[in-house]
Amino acid sequence: MAISAAKSIRASTGAGISGFLLCLPFTLENGDYPAAPRTSMPPAISPSNPIVPMNSLNVVRRAVASFAVVSLLGFLSATGHAAGCLNPAEALDRLKLGNERFVVNRVSDPKPTAVRRAETSRHQSPFAIIVGCADSRVGPETVFDQTIGDLFAVRVAGNLVDDFALGSLEYAVEPLGTRLIVVLGHQRCGAISAAIAAPDAPHHIGNIVRALQPAVQAARGRPGDLPRNATEINAEMVAAKIRKEAHFGAAAPEVVIVAGYYVLDTGRIEWTKPESETAPGSGN
Ligand SMILES: [Zn+2]
Repeated sequence: MAISAAKSIRASTGAGISGFLLCLPFTLENGDYPAAPRTSMPPAISPSNPIVPMNSLNVVRRAVASFAVVSLLGFLSATGHAAGCLNPAEALDRLKLGNERFVVNRVSDPKPTAVRRAETSRHQSPFAIIVGCADSRVGPETVFDQTIGDLFAVRVAGNLVDDFALGSLEYAVEPLGTRLIVVLGHQRCGAISAAIAAPDAPHHIGNIVRALQPAVQAARGRPGDLPRNATEINAEMVAAKIRKEAHFGAAAPEVVIVAGYYVLDTGRIEWTKPESETAPGSGN
C-alpha cells in the first residue's frame, strides 16, 4: 500500500494537518484502503507507556478533543477547502491507472465499500468530475475502477451539458473543490448514431439529436470514421461550452478540462489534448 498524502495536499487549501486527515483515504493507490482497526490487546505497561486512570478529567479532555476534530472536519467539508485533494494532473493519473486496471481485468475487487460508505456518509470530496453518456456500458466508477465518493458524475445521452449540468459542475468545483473535468465520449454512442442518421427526432430525443448536429456536421468534412470523429468533436465542443459558460469563479484558472474516448471493444479510454491548454482560465 502506497500512501502519498503529503504531496497530495493542495497548497491552496491551507488546511494543514486537517487536510491531511481528509485527504488520506483518497490518496491510497491502486485501490488499497487502510485496514479496519484491529481489536488488539491493551498495550503493555511500561515506564514509557503508563496506564492513566480514566478519571472524569480525561473523559472531558477526550470529549473536547473529539468534538474539535469532528467540528473541524465538518467545517472543512462544508467549505470544501480540503476537498478534492489531488491536483488535476494527479487526478488524471489516478483515472488512467484505474482504467488500466479495468482494461486488464485487475479491478479492485472486492472493494471495501462499507469503509468508503462510512468515510463519505457526511461529506464528499470527489477527485474528478466525469461528464459522460448515460449509456449503461460506460459507468464511470466501473471503467475507471473507482468507488463511492471518488467521482462526481454528470451523465446524459451524448455527454451533453445543459443548464442543470452546468450548475452541477459549478457545485463540484466549488464548494466541493474538484478541479479535473473529463468529458467522456464513447464508441457506438446511440445518441451520436441517431444524430448522424437524421437531423431531428421525435419528442425529447429531438433535443439531443439537434444539439449534436454541429459536431456531426463538422465531422462530415473530416476523413476517417464519421461516428468517432463526431464523438470526439462533440466532446471538444462540450468541453469548450463548459469553459465558456460555467462560472467557476476564482477557481477557474485551476480547472483542467480533458476529453476522452471510451472504446467499448477494449475498455480503454483514449485521451485527447487538454482543452485548458488552448483556453487556460478563460471565460470567468
Ligand atoms: Zn452514448
